Amino acid sequence: MYFLCGILTESNISMNKDIELFVKLYQEIEQMELTDQVAEVISPNEVWDKIDISLEENGTEDTRFLEALRKILLHTPKTASKSFFNQLFGGRQHRSLLGDLLASVLNNSMYTYKVGGPMIAVEKEILRRIASKIGYDHQKSDGMFAPGGSMTNMMGLLMARDYADDRSRFEGVKKPMTMYTSTESHYSNSKNAAFAGIGRDNVRYIEVDRKGRMIPEKLKEAIEKDKREGFLPCMVNATCGTTVLCAFDPLREIGEVCQEYGIWFHVDGALGASVMFSDKYKHLVDGSHLADSFSINAHKLFNTPLSCSIIVVKDKSHLYDSFSNEASYLYQTDDDAFNPGKISMQCGRRNDALKFWTLWKSIGDKGLGAIIDHQFEMAAKARKYVKEDPRYTLYHDEDSISVCFNYKDVDPVTLCNALYKENKLMVGFGKFREDTFVRLVTVNSGNDMEDIKRFFTILETFAELLR
Ligand SMILES: *Cc1c(COP(=O)(O)O)cnc(C)c1O
Repeated sequence: MYFLCGILTESNISMNKDIELFVKLYQEIEQMELTDQVAEVISPNEVWDKIDISLEENGTEDTRFLEALRKILLHTPKTASKSFFNQLFGGRQHRSLLGDLLASVLNNSMYTYKVGGPMIAVEKEILRRIASKIGYDHQKSDGMFAPGGSMTNMMGLLMARDYADDRSRFEGVKKPMTMYTSTESHYSNSKNAAFAGIGRDNVRYIEVDRKGRMIPEKLKEAIEKDKREGFLPCMVNATCGTTVLCAFDPLREIGEVCQEYGIWFHVDGALGASVMFSDKYKHLVDGSHLADSFSINAHKLFNTPLSCSIIVVKDKSHLYDSFSNEASYLYQTDDDAFNPGKISMQCGRRNDALKFWTLWKSIGDKGLGAIIDHQFEMAAKARKYVKEDPRYTLYHDEDSISVCFNYKDVDPVTLCNALYKENKLMVGFGKFREDTFVRLVTVNSGNDMEDIKRFFTILETFAELLR
């Protein structure tokens, strides 16, 4: 092929060597994932002593360089290991990793079609398809990728603020504004309120029902009270997949409250909105079309590499109102629709779209739906196991990927910390109302029921030693 006939330069010889090295290291990592659980833990106060991390005036010869790099890899938690259940991401989709590696090789910046080429269309295709799944008119809607779900929520809040008072982006927030979110929602809401000039104290945390879902009547009461007191309510955030229980707020009811009061409705679907791909579970996001903006993370349930965070907006003019700045040195060709730099938070922007596209193109909507069904099925079976064994207490028995339980009288915090330090399992604990419990999340779609059973066996054996 013609592109292999170029002159071998010094730099492509060494790149080829590094690609060989990469393949070797990749295989070693995979081996560690199979045998070493998550990683042997080194405490932060020893890490410089135990690993050759320090940077120096002079460069390092290859042997020492490689030894240091290998040791770092060895002790770094393997999030694709079958023993990693700690956070709301994990596992590995090989097609997605391929896309991410190629995006790094090409290293485009996703602000203009001139620089991004067809990658801009790849991004647009994902945004369009998600918009139509939500129920938006794809001609009127648009969206953006941002570095994380916290940032897509931030974009939602900024549009909400500017919608509530369109002078605020010029003059700053002058009328005191409020926003509404459930007590179980993600902490980015509070941080974003501070960043956006609304203020952490003006976030109203709305009570949830015993299943962890926002109570729409309580939301209404809070809005009424604030209006009486002279606040300007600017946004309601509903969560699809809360952090601890993976509960789904009732979007339709909340959306109707927002319509009644003319308030921007943002859905934080970072964790759970991916259920829209499953025929079996898409009812959990019923009413999504009522949202003005909607965030979703593919790096959670779809196991793409971090980060792959998307916001879709019902009426794209809000993206232009809140984020566009003219920059004639940048935007010299093509129309605005293909120059996404006009509506992004950043200037230079990484290509986070290709890794989702490579997966989606390979397995289709159906394949994505099957991933969700598998994760929910594993969680349901894990819950059944816990429910049928009298040694366990189960805390939340709803469709979700969270399995919340305690084993006998073992303190969940002590148990999770000990499992981590001994490199047995990486799993976290959670709190809901008065209860603290172990929270197993079936996010890694590469796991099967054998892996989940193994999780319980390891946990039980270890817990007995602690008692
Ligand atoms: C993970 C998560 C976020 C934050 O997303 P990041 O990509 O980690 O910044 C926000 N909201 C919910 C509900 C989440 O689960």
